Amino acid sequence: MLFDTHAHYDDERFESELDKPLDDFIIELFSGDVGGIINAGTNIETCKKSIELSEKFNRMYAAVGIHPSDCYKYGDIDGILGAIRELSRHKKVVAIGEIGLDYHYDFSPRDIQKVWFEAQLDLACELGLPAVIHDREAHGDVFDMIKRKKGVKVVMHSCSESAETVRQLTDMGHYISFSGSVTFKNAKNTVLAAEACPLGQMLIETDCPYLAPTPHRGKLNHSGLVRHTAEKLAEIKGISYDEICRITYENALRFFNISE
Ligand SMILES: [Zn+2]
Repeated sequence: MLFDTHAHYDDERFESELDKPLDDFIIELFSGDVGGIINAGTNIETCKKSIELSEKFNRMYAAVGIHPSDCYKYGDIDGILGAIRELSRHKKVVAIGEIGLDYHYDFSPRDIQKVWFEAQLDLACELGLPAVIHDREAHGDVFDMIKRKKGVKVVMHSCSESAETVRQLTDMGHYISFSGSVTFKNAKNTVLAAEACPLGQMLIETDCPYLAPTPHRGKLNHSGLVRHTAEKLAEIKGISYDEICRITYENALRFFNISE
């Protein structure tokens, strides 16, 4: 069984590109080798949709938070954080996320992104929930802010960190999640990062509908394709496919405090 720890089934691409209703599609995934999915919210609307999805499917869970590329849309940070706090009380919410910094798109000014990131790391600590971190071309600032925040437990989603940063983060007890990007031809640094990541702190994800793994690159990604990522990680770690599935599945249950 595979646990896809980061997906966006609320994305309209599923609506427009699937040849069947989304619900039927997800039921098929769960009757295959997908044993769990966490749908990550990025703004209030997608957080609510994530929770709705988690209510429909037993093995679907939700993360709630404001993405760095969405935070500029909100003026009232205290009000929005209050709403996230309320949403997080739902029994299927297992994390605060996705939150972080995005210096690639820079949709929100960087000082604003940092204020939201800091506040949501505090919220995760307050609620005793792990945080799902988006870090795009902001490695130094993301690392510093996580390091300063005592008591927080994070997973770096769709790892793009260096092997050295992965070593430092995992030494602090944090987890690293690998997406289809580890299967890409130009993924040398991510392969080195996976080599550096202890097996006990490794998670897998799709970030679907984006980042479809090789050999499906550019197509609509979904949790059924996470096995290509698992195959690649098994190869990097020199273990069997069954072992990488079992280990990353157990890691996901432990990290997100999910009891089956
Ligand atoms: Zn995402």
